Amino acid sequence: MSFSTEVKRELMEAAAEQLPCCAEAQLYGMLLFARDFSPRGIRFTTESAALAELFCALLLRFTPAAAELRRSGRKWEAEINNPGDCVQVLEHFGHAPGEVTLRINRMNFSGECCPAAFLRGAFLACAAVTAPQRQYHLEFSVSFRRLAGDLAEQLGESGLTPGVTQRKGVWLLYFKGSEQIEDTLALLGAQRASLDLMGVKIEKDVRNHVNRRVNFETANMNRTAGAAATQLESIRNLRETGAFAALPEPLRQAAALREENPEASLQELCDLCGGGVTRSGMNHRLKRLVEMAGE
Ligand SMILES: [Zn+2]
Repeated sequence: MSFSTEVKRELMEAAAEQLPCCAEAQLYGMLLFARDFSPRGIRFTTESAALAELFCALLLRFTPAAAELRRSGRKWEAEINNPGDCVQVLEHFGHAPGEVTLRINRMNFSGECCPAAFLRGAFLACAAVTAPQRQYHLEFSVSFRRLAGDLAEQLGESGLTPGVTQRKGVWLLYFKGSEQIEDTLALLGAQRASLDLMGVKIEKDVRNHVNRRVNFETANMNRTAGAAATQLESIRNLRETGAFAALPEPLRQAAALREENPEASLQELCDLCGGGVTRSGMNHRLKRLVEMAGE
């Protein structure tokens, strides 16, 4: 089951427990963002039979019109074709049949609880969300520019600011940030999906942190190995040229330690020394050896 389908299923569960005012606001959202909502026809399309049935049930509950349910390929279509019935539904929600541009009619929100239910309806009609394991992406696709603008404004009132773009003549309102998607899902009533998203985000963050840490340590080890190789070469050089015997005792001691422990870090060399030398002291001695070999 896709993440979108899962979210929609959860939203339908949430919808089953809502107040009548919210159920009607949700129906309004489903209608306004359905494939068609005009005097010539009302059509709600979905891949979920349960969702199409819910649409029909809500229509029957709040309006005098009944929709017909039929299968069309992989999709379910709930539609009203009779113009008289379409006009009745439009008028029920305060839309005049001759209206040129479709806008959100806020008269349909009777309480403060209703806008979220309306957004839930809009999501069920025209939105999709990608599985967070793959990508953070939630989008509403709306056929009309001004209606898309109204929806963006409505989301904005709940503190959600979607990006807006156009693709193939359709307006897209989208969210790309995991937090905004979490908040959107929670607002719509999909708490479980919102928590899932949070869990995935934490997992991803931990994995990224571990990867960064590993990369950092590998880089450090490579640096240590590179420095040790230079030191060993310098020491060999000093021995071959006979300069080694003339070196001060602490330098000879450091050189011997490095030769015996080619892979040891500075700290490990200090520890092998019995703690008599600090890290910076050891570093200084090894650097001095490299410098002297250079001379
Ligand atoms: Zn309400």
